[in-house]
Amino acid sequence: MNTLEAFAMMDYGPAPEDAREAHAWLDAHDRRFDLFIDGQWQPATDDTRFDSHDPASGEPLASIASASAADVDRAVAAARKAFPAWRDTPGHMRARYLYALARQIQKHARRLAVLETLDNGKPIRETRDIDIPLVARHFYHHAGWAQILASEFPDHEPLGVAGQVIPWNFPLLMLAWKIAPAIAAGNTVVLKPAEFTSLTALAFAELCRNVGLPDGVVNIVTGAGETGAALVAHPDVDKIAFTGSTEVGREIRRQTADSAKRLTLELGGKSPFIVFDDADLDSAVEGIVDGIWFNQGEVCCAGSRLLVHEAVSERLLAKLRRRMNTLRIGNPLDKAIDIGAIVAPVQLERIRGLVDQAVAEGATCHQAECPLPETGLFYPPTLLTDVGPASTAAQTEIFGPVLTAMTFRTPDEAVMLANNTAYGLAASVWSENINVALELAPRIQAGVVWINTTNRFDAACGFGGYRESGYGREGGREGLAAYLRPAWEQRLPMLPLDTGDELGAAAPAGDPSAAFGIDRTAKLYIGGKQKRPDGGYSQPIVAADGQHVADVSLGNRKDIRDAVEAARAAAGWARQDGHARAQILYYMAENLAQRRDEFAARDARLSGVTAQQAGAEIDEAISQAFSAAAWADKYDGAVHNPPGRVLTAALHEPMGVIGIVCPADAPLLAFVSLALHAIALGNRVVAIPSARCPLLATDFYQVLETSDLPDGVLNIVTGRPTELAPVLADHMGVDALWYFGPASGIADVKARSTSNLKTVWTHEGRALDWFALGAGHARDILGHASQVKNVWIPYGE
Ligand code: NDP
Repeated sequence: MNTLEAFAMMDYGPAPEDAREAHAWLDAHDRRFDLFIDGQWQPATDDTRFDSHDPASGEPLASIASASAADVDRAVAAARKAFPAWRDTPGHMRARYLYALARQIQKHARRLAVLETLDNGKPIRETRDIDIPLVARHFYHHAGWAQILASEFPDHEPLGVAGQVIPWNFPLLMLAWKIAPAIAAGNTVVLKPAEFTSLTALAFAELCRNVGLPDGVVNIVTGAGETGAALVAHPDVDKIAFTGSTEVGREIRRQTADSAKRLTLELGGKSPFIVFDDADLDSAVEGIVDGIWFNQGEVCCAGSRLLVHEAVSERLLAKLRRRMNTLRIGNPLDKAIDIGAIVAPVQLERIRGLVDQAVAEGATCHQAECPLPETGLFYPPTLLTDVGPASTAAQTEIFGPVLTAMTFRTPDEAVMLANNTAYGLAASVWSENINVALELAPRIQAGVVWINTTNRFDAACGFGGYRESGYGREGGREGLAAYLRPAWEQRLPMLPLDTGDELGAAAPAGDPSAAFGIDRTAKLYIGGKQKRPDGGYSQPIVAADGQHVADVSLGNRKDIRDAVEAARAAAGWARQDGHARAQILYYMAENLAQRRDEFAARDARLSGVTAQQAGAEIDEAISQAFSAAAWADKYDGAVHNPPGRVLTAALHEPMGVIGIVCPADAPLLAFVSLALHAIALGNRVVAIPSARCPLLATDFYQVLETSDLPDGVLNIVTGRPTELAPVLADHMGVDALWYFGPASGIADVKARSTSNLKTVWTHEGRALDWFALGAGHARDILGHASQVKNVWIPYGE
């Protein structure tokens, strides 16, 4: 071919990466790896092994030990043994280890990139330019956190042993996202990589030895799902951090429900990629290429659902089809390749199966004309059109290079379609009008929104999902906080298991005093109105002196459903600005203050505490109400400045509808502290007040009725927590559950929270002193009342 012909073809010659060093490293290990436990390579107890393959060639790469439950036990024991010394290592020293790891990663960057490409099938261009640099960045960033931890997180401590389970799509990067914050915060770690892609985790183990990381701080147990399950089930693990499928995430939530293990879940997605009619279509096409064909589409936050304005749909799709034909698919070690191999036969089959199903359901399938290699696991870039919003192609995570396209006409319709999914991991919005894009960002239910960009990540910016994409963030301050807890929490006494479900005791039969106040029946408070309970039952409430004070309604499943419906209908509250919410809360606080003596007298009578004690509770409740008002316009997020001319606005958004099961004690104080701080941030609440002393909460209706709180923002359903809390936990319309009810119910509500993967906040059956929580308490509640959305806004030409 002469120069002129080559110029006319504009084709690339092969540009193969030299893989010799990676192969030499494998050879140096005899292509046989054991488990990394307590700083040593240790064989698996029963010597079970599996092979790791190169998905591009099908060649076996290495034989890897498969850890049994007994091996996991050894690894956890090593991590436990190493924990006290690592926790007590000064932050500065921990930082030095993390800096050293970051440097090791940089020094061996090319070998790690090649190894990752060999093991996973992803293009060398991506491992070399994206994965490995981000791994190093993660360790650098978290080295800094270790250095400043004591001053930034005063009176906090690490959780202990973290069990971490990661998937195969970004093997070393996922490891970095898990290990860097955990060890920076002083935890020790047992990590299980995915069976398909263990090699870079094993290479990392070697780097840990190179830097002299103390034995047992990082342990790597290779194996399949059973190894992960054994780690999750291990009783001596304090936290589970999982990335993978929503299905396994749900299973893990169920498995850990009866323990106090902390849990963060980074799960699947079906992220919208929204293109407005004023978008720069050529840039949008490049964005789509990055959004869905980066990493073969095996990306949890892949922009797999293209939503394009009807007016530009044909033009955009025509450009996209042309661009698809120019994508190069093949040997991932070729530096000029865009799309590499699918990780394993099972994943390739899954992609094929889902595309076939989409076509059977009526979708039109367009595949790029680029040639596929004759051997290896490859799948062409694919575009599905003519799909309905409820079809498999629009709803199921395909986790492959498959894009589903739909159209919209108005911004409202774009938002509706974007949110028409159980997931909520990420979204990408393309418009030359930044006002339009920024208006849309808060309305999309997703943990990350990229504006005129996509698939960007940085250690400083939290990453994680809303809804069934999981909870918790990785990266940034929030990600680190997930590996810490306030030191005082562990010092709280445990409640007896059955505390808190007894309703005010029944009046003794025939007691003449039982007639006192007989006409007063406290109803439910739903949608701004007092409502009779659906079941028609009520229960007498008897004061400490034995007299019948009033009856209280016994709410049931239907009442909870009505209350959740009312709360969902009050979504406008979240859109009010903080100042407006603050004013309403101040007014409520003032109204409560005006009735201070009345509430105090009632509290003294009902609870049998002294007038002074009752007064103290009401005063503290008033103070908490003012605190909630004060915070309504102050709990701001942050602006990050990650590398690459982009600002990331980390917004604190409300969770949505929060179910609150109040504790039996401090009946007004706990109720006011929890409910008002929750609504201060724009949440709506369905509260189940103290069963033992519900009348202070029902008296609070009068404060609500004389305030300007919109109907449905705060709903109160009295009744037995053991009956009502499971209904809240099951309910798909409840986004978060705060459970301070009977300790015996904790495991049950956690297990039920899998319905829609709602977050559950409990104090694990520990007794809180609501009077002595101090200044940090409000921030603690606000943290549970909000989730962080990172909005990426690039700047410059
Ligand atoms: P999984 O959720 O099964 O795997 C993720 C990790 O969990 C792996 O290390 C896996 O081990 C391990 N694991 C599997 N079962 C259990 C268990 N019961 N307890 C503890 N750990 C377990 O994802 P897959 O790899 O099977 O992929 C299936 C689908 O999940 C994909 O098609 C994709 O849709 C989605 N996915 C989403 C990811 C994300 O980042 N959100 C990442 C990966 C997959 P092993 O792999 O060794 O079996």
